[in-house]
Amino acid sequence: MKIIDAHLHFSKFDGFDERAREAGHINSAEHLLAEFDRLGIEAAVAMGAGRGGSPEGECLPMTVNLAGPFDPVRYGQPRRIAYCAGVESDVLNKANQKRSVALFEERLRDPHCVGIKMYPGYNRRYLNDPLHYPLYELAEHYDVPVAIHTGDTATANALVKYSHPLTVDEVAVNFPRVRFVMAHYGNPWVIDATEVAAKNPNVFIDLSGLAVGNFDPEWFWNDYSGYLQHLKTWMNYLSDYGKFMYGTDWPLVNLEAYLTVLRRLVPEKAHNLVFRENALRIYSKLNALLA
Ligand SMILES: [Zn+2]
Repeated sequence: MKIIDAHLHFSKFDGFDERAREAGHINSAEHLLAEFDRLGIEAAVAMGAGRGGSPEGECLPMTVNLAGPFDPVRYGQPRRIAYCAGVESDVLNKANQKRSVALFEERLRDPHCVGIKMYPGYNRRYLNDPLHYPLYELAEHYDVPVAIHTGDTATANALVKYSHPLTVDEVAVNFPRVRFVMAHYGNPWVIDATEVAAKNPNVFIDLSGLAVGNFDPEWFWNDYSGYLQHLKTWMNYLSDYGKFMYGTDWPLVNLEAYLTVLRRLVPEKAHNLVFRENALRIYSKLNALLA
């Protein structure tokens, strides 16, 4: 089975080189693609990260820039690396909203741009802020999902009240034709995330970032058995493996170790869905890229 990694980062942002080394990797396109070939990973969705402000004051879509210098037409990414345009929504305001949304629309015309990514905890702005609504309307129009960083944040100055999975419920209800993806399963609020996904037919979960760094999978499986059992319990409670997508959060975690643990966590009968088919259905623009 060819695997799709529905959540990684393809960027030089924020100490990612160092984090890649800690995870036993090199933060480069060449290294990543070689690892993909070795592990049977066909394609990935990279979450745009970086700085979303511009000197003109717009909220610029954050894209992926590991493969080369900034290029406004093509970002130089390999064909099998799609991306979500990241929103740095603390830059978004009434004055620049229209122009900013136009820039996101321009990105969504790119076949590689398969979704929009929100960072509410880092940007300290709730998902239901009306400033975001035109972006959700764009997602609906272009039939792409809105991925959301939910749960714990990597930096102490972010505020987790904004990234709590319960905040997804209201936008999911208000935009029933938009697919929302709760990245990282809302961890550690896994029960809350389960409820939001169970209740709303348009809410999905990516399983990225549930472990970081480099580790022996056998050690992790034993040392974190309570945590993994908890995840398993609530995944089974949701009892719909059409809701979950495999993702890693590379370069923050070792790809092989993570894959080994997740293969064991997800019931074998659901592997096709979780490791591949759900991503093709939810990030549906991937189909054209891989055709
Ligand atoms: Zn991430």
